[in-house]
Amino acid sequence: MNTLTTRDPVSRRRTFAIISHPDAGKTTLTEKLLLFGGAIQLAGAVKAKRNAQQTRSDWMNIERERGISVVTSVMTFEYADCVFNLLDTPGHEDFSEDTYRTLSAVDAAVMVIDAAKGIEARTRKLFEVCRLRDIPIVTFINKLDREARDPFELLDEIEKTLALDATPITWPIGSGKGFAGTYRFATKTVRQIDKDAEVLQTSGIDDPLFDRLLPNGAEAWREEAALAEEGSKPFDLSAFREGHLTPVFFGSALRNFGVRDLIDAMAEYAPSPRAQEANKRVVEAHEPKMTGFVFKIQANMDPNHRDRIAFMRVCSGKLTRGMKAKLARTGKNIPLNAPQFFFARDRSIADEAYAGDVVGLPNHGQLRIGDTLTEGEDIVFRGVPSFAPEILRRILISDAMKAKKLREALQQLAEEGVVQVFTPHDGSGSIVGVVGALQLDVLATRLEAEYGLQTRYEQSRFTVCRWVSSDDATALKGFVDSHASSVADDLDGAPVFMAPSDFSLRYDAERNPAIVFSDVKDYQ
Ligand code: GDP
Repeated sequence: MNTLTTRDPVSRRRTFAIISHPDAGKTTLTEKLLLFGGAIQLAGAVKAKRNAQQTRSDWMNIERERGISVVTSVMTFEYADCVFNLLDTPGHEDFSEDTYRTLSAVDAAVMVIDAAKGIEARTRKLFEVCRLRDIPIVTFINKLDREARDPFELLDEIEKTLALDATPITWPIGSGKGFAGTYRFATKTVRQIDKDAEVLQTSGIDDPLFDRLLPNGAEAWREEAALAEEGSKPFDLSAFREGHLTPVFFGSALRNFGVRDLIDAMAEYAPSPRAQEANKRVVEAHEPKMTGFVFKIQANMDPNHRDRIAFMRVCSGKLTRGMKAKLARTGKNIPLNAPQFFFARDRSIADEAYAGDVVGLPNHGQLRIGDTLTEGEDIVFRGVPSFAPEILRRILISDAMKAKKLREALQQLAEEGVVQVFTPHDGSGSIVGVVGALQLDVLATRLEAEYGLQTRYEQSRFTVCRWVSSDDATALKGFVDSHASSVADDLDGAPVFMAPSDFSLRYDAERNPAIVFSDVKDYQ
């Protein structure tokens, strides 16, 4: 990657996430990537930091107890003349909404696959989200230092289960105890395990080097490598950028092998910040004026100060410290006095940020998920979705005097994206909706720890809900009025129809063809 010259700040940005099934090696790979960027000196710092954060707030005990990561964060590092923004996606399925939103803020993804297991459920699910947005994916087949499945079988699985062309850029030389390194087809070069920084030039697969590396299997390997090269599609940058083809690398995150090839590929192939679609127009990353959208809100770890950090992806222009940005939802100006950058170990004040960067904006509740900030233009970015919850519960409080406080707390937590809150039109108590059950525990724990509210849940008679809309305003009003006991308002006042079962939902949908029932809502 030393052919790169210094370019403008936007072209240098690579904003990406790692998608994988738990245990495939995401954390290990993250640590190694950060080491390349010089962002941390010690492997292990990623987990260490997680633990440090966890001690700061009570509700995060849930995360520690269950050994999962609830928090999404961003890590920035420089390598090969590029600035990488790695957005961490939470590992647990229950937090899929957070994950979806995080993926709305990236331009590329690294898919980590455990070589012994292949494509697993969660990888597949996350991949589908990437596909919705045509996010280009680089594949890293990990744990080659252990017994692995046949590489052809793994490539085949990618092609078949994900309907994605898979082009091996490197090919493993042995596996498990006999894993000697990788061969790169295009350059005929070899990297050996534990000597990752060195590149050996060979004359091709017939080179005697392979007899040395694979004393008992060089011939079989040669046949296999020839077949892999001939049998796979050549790497095509535009097919990759359009999300149809994935370049595949083999390695071992634990042994820090193959990671260099991976990060070089991210620098070379992954796109710089993409144009983003707003309601009125498409915003190009190179435009001079600053725009951005909030995809994540994180409560400050200190429960005594109820300030919050909004994570904003800058979509265009340059964000400078102290500038005023217009919040499209309210029309108000917000001073960006202390935007923050995040590194593996700590945060620092950001003096300037460019398209592709993610900055943390401390605020006291002015910013919500899905908010757009601009230098004055009235536009709203699309694509930070909200999903219809799969679990609905009534939330009850023992002390009736605190009902108002509960409403306020729910509003704040809903703005953070912890839960969705629905206010029924018939005046009955609030209903909370979540995508995964663990979110209910997080909600109850935070209500108690941060607001001093003891709550409990009760089954609601509803199990499904959909946002309702219509081109015909009269029809919508008629539907909403005649279903007052089944309609509630969401946080933004949008009507939501709730039903006791899928069957009754379908029944109502069929009888009301003028109404659109939607399980996804764009945030504006
Ligand atoms: P995550 O759940 O995807 O973040 O996975 P981790 O990075 O925490 O890794 C899960 C387990 O696999 C840990 O015990 C790692 O040490 C191990 N692991 C990760 N990468 C490799 C690898 O390349 N080779 C081997 N042998 N083990 C690995």
